[in-house]
Amino acid sequence: MELGIAGKRALICASSKGLGLGCARALAEAGANIVMNARGEEALALAAEGIRSTCEVEVTAVAADITTEEGRAQVLQAAGDVDILVTNAGGPPPGVWSDWDREDFIAALDANMLTPIALMKALLPGMIDRGWGRVVNITSQSVKAPIAALGLSNSARAGLTGYVAGTSRQVAPYGVVINNMLPGIHATDRAVALDTGVAQQEELTLEQARARREQSIPAGRYGTPEEFGAMCAFLCSQHAGFIIGQNILLDGGATNATL
Ligand code: NAP
Repeated sequence: MELGIAGKRALICASSKGLGLGCARALAEAGANIVMNARGEEALALAAEGIRSTCEVEVTAVAADITTEEGRAQVLQAAGDVDILVTNAGGPPPGVWSDWDREDFIAALDANMLTPIALMKALLPGMIDRGWGRVVNITSQSVKAPIAALGLSNSARAGLTGYVAGTSRQVAPYGVVINNMLPGIHATDRAVALDTGVAQQEELTLEQARARREQSIPAGRYGTPEEFGAMCAFLCSQHAGFIIGQNILLDGGATNATL
C-alpha cells in the first residue's frame, strides 16, 4: 500500500532501539525523511546508519535526553518543520503502590506525560499552518487495563491519554491527526528488563519467565518492533485522516475486554 508520505519530515523520539526504532524504520521505508533521537550516542549512530544504508531518505540523529527541557530544545532545533511526530521515552521503573513518593510521580509525569505534551505544543502550530500533520504517542496497554507493578506508568500515561482525547479533536479541523499506540509486551530491551525482574523475584530463568508470559497471550508470542512500526506508519499515512484521538491496542489479545 502506498502511504503517501514520501518527502514528509518525521521526528521519532527515543528511537535508537525497540519500538521507536521500529517506527523510524517503517516511516523511512515509506519515504519520510527522519530525525532520530536517543541519549546514547553510539547506539543511535548505529541505528541511524542501519536505516541510511537501506532507505534513500535523509536521516538526522540527535543524541539528547528528550525528557529534559534542554534535550527537547536541541532535538526541536535540529528537526525544524516537522510533519510527523512520534513521541516516546523510556518507561518508569516497576514497584508496588507503597514504593512511590511525590518525586517518583514527578519523574514519571515528566517523561511519559509532560514531555509528549511539550513536543505537541511546540510542533502542532506548524502542522496547523501547513494544514497537515500526524502525531502518534507511544503509551501502553496499561492505559486500558492497569499493570499492578507499573503504577507510575498507569498514572502518567492515563494523564497523556486524557490530554490527547481533548486536543486531537481541537486540531482535527486543520488536517492534524493525533492518536496513541498502546503496546502490550513486545520483544525489546524493555521486555528483557521486565522479564529479568520477574525471573529474579520468582527464582525462574529468563527463558522460563518469558515462556510463562507468552502463554498468557492469546497470540502465544511477543509482538515485534516491525509489526509495531507498520501500524505507526499507517497512522501517519494519508489514509489515517479520519482516525482521530484513538487508542490502538497492539497486545496479541492479552487485554481481555470486549472494547
Ligand atoms: P527499549 O527497547 O528499552 O528502547 C527505549 C529507547 O528509548 C532506546 O532507544 C533508548 O535509548 C531511548 N530512550 C529512553 N529514554 C530516553 C530519553 N530520556 N531520551 C531519549 N531517548 C530515550 O524500550 P521499548 O520496548 O521500545 O519501549 C518504548 C516505550 O514503550 C517505553 O516507554 C515502554 O515503557 C513502552 N512500552 C513497552 C512495552 C514493551 O513490551 N516493549 C510494553 C508497553 C509499553 P537511550 O537509552 O540511549 O536513551
